[in-house]
Amino acid sequence: MTSQVHTARPVLDPARAEVLQQVPDSSPQQVDEVVRRARVAFAGGRWSRCPRRERAEVLTEVGRRIRQHAVELAETESRNVGKPIVQARGDVLGAAETFEVCAQVIGSLTDEVIDGGTDQTTLVVREPVGVVAGIVPWNYPLAIAAGTLAPALAAGNSVVLKPSPETPLSALRLEQLAGDLFPPGVLGLVTGGVETGRHLVAQPQVDRVQFTGSTRAGHEIMAAAAVRYARLGLELGGKSATLVFADAPLRAAAASAVWRFTANQGENCGAGSRLLVEAAVYDEFLEAVLDEVRTLVVGDPMDEATAIGPMISQAHRQRVQRHLDAAAATSTLLHQGAVPDRPPLDRGFFVPPSVWETEPGTALWHEEVFGPVLAVRRFEHEDEAVELANHSTYGLMAHVWCGDRGRAVRIARRIDAGVIRINKAVEGPTGPWGGMKSSGIGRNLGRYGIDAASELKQICLDLR
Ligand code: NAD
Repeated sequence: MTSQVHTARPVLDPARAEVLQQVPDSSPQQVDEVVRRARVAFAGGRWSRCPRRERAEVLTEVGRRIRQHAVELAETESRNVGKPIVQARGDVLGAAETFEVCAQVIGSLTDEVIDGGTDQTTLVVREPVGVVAGIVPWNYPLAIAAGTLAPALAAGNSVVLKPSPETPLSALRLEQLAGDLFPPGVLGLVTGGVETGRHLVAQPQVDRVQFTGSTRAGHEIMAAAAVRYARLGLELGGKSATLVFADAPLRAAAASAVWRFTANQGENCGAGSRLLVEAAVYDEFLEAVLDEVRTLVVGDPMDEATAIGPMISQAHRQRVQRHLDAAAATSTLLHQGAVPDRPPLDRGFFVPPSVWETEPGTALWHEEVFGPVLAVRRFEHEDEAVELANHSTYGLMAHVWCGDRGRAVRIARRIDAGVIRINKAVEGPTGPWGGMKSSGIGRNLGRYGIDAASELKQICLDLR
């Protein structure tokens, strides 16, 4: 970036409402310049046309450098996002693995041949798309930056990354740590908020937008990209369901259900914010959930014992509070925890975890709250459970807890979601990650992300 300063923004520690650092927004001219350099680098071919094996080596080295600086990156992430340090460490290792997986995939990917008899053969090759704008949110800044960068870079694209204005620190550090591994211009970074994002998406030189964020912004970006048929990957919001059947291992299911709505203090696109429980075990299961919630420590994210940190900002805390105020009129509060009340954490943007019994049709059931808030409902039979799970405009994730694994898979097939966990299983950085309905378009990570960041081309060869 050039040294021309546009607007400096305070980047906060949300647990203490303290300024960590001032980060200037990139000016429109700076964005133009970073995109231009990305285009020149792409056309130059040092990255876009280099052997895949060499790209694999570089991406492996990015992973290694992330691991080497894991302690520092986790602390940065925990302080800036307010996420518990234990979870931040997992995010950092996940980011390293995301690069390593893409390195393995691109290093071993082979092109296909379509047999045309003795007269003709057809090569199916993958070409990079060009310049990719990667726009990421504040909830998993490093992990999502890695998920945005790694597949697109592996495919041979140049990438311009825009982190969220609330949480640019880990992305800026990643650029410092790994930028020198790429030919100049291949990995660019711009800072700023919505206006910077809009300016980036509008650049005619941007061939693909890989966006992770709200469904509202996703609409706008889709419309802007459509003007010039820019390729698009959208990872948007969610209102995911956890389904618990009577024959499930209930203790493990209760711990998992609580984790799924409180991890990253509920600021999680895949948060299990709706819990559906079979009537036969409803009371017993709910008691187990509430017992578990009562043990959670809400507090300093840097403390090893903390399970729930603050919301990202005062504005977001107020948004979550408005959801809770509305829920009070439609739903029954079953439990609400406490927030830190001593300095300096009493200035933080904390929201207590809460559990509510509700009905489909309430805002609490439908809207993404993005806080540690759980909506619970009972179901009588499998069809009702599936219908309730699908009763959402979103379709990102679901979690099925069921003793009969065959039945669990059948249920999973009927649920409108891109990622479904059964019992203790969790997805990894090999993909395909992404949602159905208004949770997004396309799939990312690993082989699927590399395919999404590539253009397939068939080259028909006359053999006569
Ligand atoms: P947001 O949409 O407000 O912002 C996301 C990013 O887009 C930020 O960098 C922002 O500056 C930029 N931006 C916003 N509007 C833009 C526009 N019109 N043009 C270009 N750029 C724009 O989202 P947020 O509040 O940062 O993040 C929370 C949302 O992200 C939640 O809805 C959550 O579910 C979603 N999310 C989805 C996934 C997923 O994988 N599906 C993962 C994490 C978060």
